[in-house]
Amino acid sequence: MTDIPKDHPRYLSLMTRELIIQGVEKGITGITGLIAQGRGEAFDYLLGEQTIPSASEAGRTAAAALVLAKSPVISVNGNTAALVAEELVKLSTMLGAPLEVNLFYKTQERVQKIIEYLQSYGAYEVLGARPDCDIAELSSERKHVCKQGIFLADVVCVPLEDGDRCEALRKMGKTVIVVDLNPLSRTAQSASVCIVDNIVRAMPNIIELVDEMKGKSTSYLQEIVDGFDNKQNLDDAMGSIYKNLKMKHHQLPNIQKKEK
Ligand code: ATP
Ligand code: MG
Repeated sequence: MTDIPKDHPRYLSLMTRELIIQGVEKGITGITGLIAQGRGEAFDYLLGEQTIPSASEAGRTAAAALVLAKSPVISVNGNTAALVAEELVKLSTMLGAPLEVNLFYKTQERVQKIIEYLQSYGAYEVLGARPDCDIAELSSERKHVCKQGIFLADVVCVPLEDGDRCEALRKMGKTVIVVDLNPLSRTAQSASVCIVDNIVRAMPNIIELVDEMKGKSTSYLQEIVDGFDNKQNLDDAMGSIYKNLKMKHHQLPNIQKKEK
């Protein structure tokens, strides 16, 4: 592994990149996962590599929806497994929600490797090795799902989703929670709740909030879910991006002076 000095100003971002590279080397992340990570990094840069207020609100709503769910499921792909395996397992255990491996660039070997990787973190139930149902509206490999998992779930948490499947799951009447750094993506726009944040920051936040929400009444949780407007939340995320860009722009002459 590349030795990244801890005092590097973008240490966390570089470490995250390193985890994806390791994922590819281990065979759990597809090569295109590197490109997805790059796209994510660009948007994270625009956010200032921080959790913006609208993301905290979306995370709170996601936690409430997950605690309210009758049959929640957490969908896992190669990037999420590489970045937040421990957190995925923790959330799954807290909610009693199975993990289901579902890949766009699917090979049985990679599915198996991800399942074993999650099990090495103590996962109790990982579905996806033998899908027994299809999502009729999808043509990609992601249409093959498990009946006891994604197919019958009422709430699906799909960190790093692709737009097509998000739309298909919504059409099936499911609440779809996604994490996507790009507030303009089809995924973000079609989700019930999109958390515009890096998955490495969003997952620990969701876990903490689920812990808090577990002690709350159903009506309290329902009020949070009903009061959430995904479109407004994405507009707020864009507002944070504008604000951050303006700030970076104003700081520019000072940075240039220092560099001379
Ligand atoms: P669409 O949602 O419009 O269908 P897509 O899903 O096809 O687009 P991909 O190429 O799969 O787009 O890009 C992956 C998406 O995941 C990008 O929007 C990127 O911002 C987001 N992303 C990548 N890494 C992370 C991360 N670590 N945390 C959160 N989001 C991420
Ligand atoms: Mg997407």
